[in-house]
Amino acid sequence: AKIEGRGRFAYFSESLTQAARARIDIEVRLRRAITQGELRVYYQPQVDIPSGRIVGAEALVRWQCPIEGLVPPARFITIAEATGLIGEIDDWVLRETCQQGQRWRAAGLPTLTLAVNLSAYQFLQGDISQTVAQVLRDTGYPAAFLELELTESALMQREAQAIQMLDRLKALGVRLAIDDFGTGYSSLAYLKLFPLDVLKIDKRFIDDIPAHRDDMEIVTAIIAMAHSLRLKVLAEGVENKEQLAYLQTQGCDQFQGYLTSRPVPAAEFEKLFLSGR
Ligand code: C2E
Ligand code: CA
Ligand code: CA
Ligand code: CA
Repeated sequence: AKIEGRGRFAYFSESLTQAARARIDIEVRLRRAITQGELRVYYQPQVDIPSGRIVGAEALVRWQCPIEGLVPPARFITIAEATGLIGEIDDWVLRETCQQGQRWRAAGLPTLTLAVNLSAYQFLQGDISQTVAQVLRDTGYPAAFLELELTESALMQREAQAIQMLDRLKALGVRLAIDDFGTGYSSLAYLKLFPLDVLKIDKRFIDDIPAHRDDMEIVTAIIAMAHSLRLKVLAEGVENKEQLAYLQTQGCDQFQGYLTSRPVPAAEFEKLFLSGR
């Protein structure tokens, strides 16, 4: 039994070491990716439901890895959050997105609302409003067309601090969105505390429309509740016409999803926008 125990221990510690090594490996490569310019921003159209027009886009990061190809955020965001690298990534995405927005304006496109994700780490660390102010100054992108997406968990971790930070961001004139709504524990009373402009209904409530009546009723209730708080509502992950039709009957303001397009590089987004007008 002793031998077996020792053997198990040896096996266990070896696998731990392997996991730790793999993590450090990704961390080192991710650090290099940031400095070597291997990150990309993809844009997913956001569509105004009444007019059917593209009015904005969500900026979503990708890692163009020379070895592995295009790596989705699910594969590196967790490690980026654990190591604090997410701060650098979010700052880079913010700047790149505002620069791209200015290039589109210069090319004669109407000004689009560009939405950027802020991680909880980034949001609760230091003063993100200074970074946002600096990027808006440097790029010239109009604050009213920049939207910052925060998750429920980011807002709820340290509520008082979160409200203070949102107030500072609001003072810059940017729009604020709560992302993945419905996946946490926010109540109506709770949402009222935060100076938000947009509520994004999580994809999981959209997925089973029209098969699941429960989900449809939840979506209806969220839209009504958000509107009573004077929030715009955007539904995420809309993949088919039935889902869109239901959202339309419920007065949902905007949607994004594969029905219109997956997230695409800037040049492709531009084509989509110009063809869809
Ligand atoms: P998210 O913020 O909820 O972004 C929406 C995700 O849903 C995106 O995945 C998008 O490609 C996907 N999606 C949109 N429409 C559909 C649809 O119709 N069907 C399906 N199946 N999926 C759809 P993506 O780009 O892989 O991003 C995953 C998550 O990674 C994001 O979820 C966000 O939490 C995080 N993320 C992405 N970019 C950034 C970033 O720059 N900073 C931070 N902090 N997080 C980011
Ligand atoms: Ca988001
Ligand atoms: Ca989301
Ligand atoms: Ca999500």
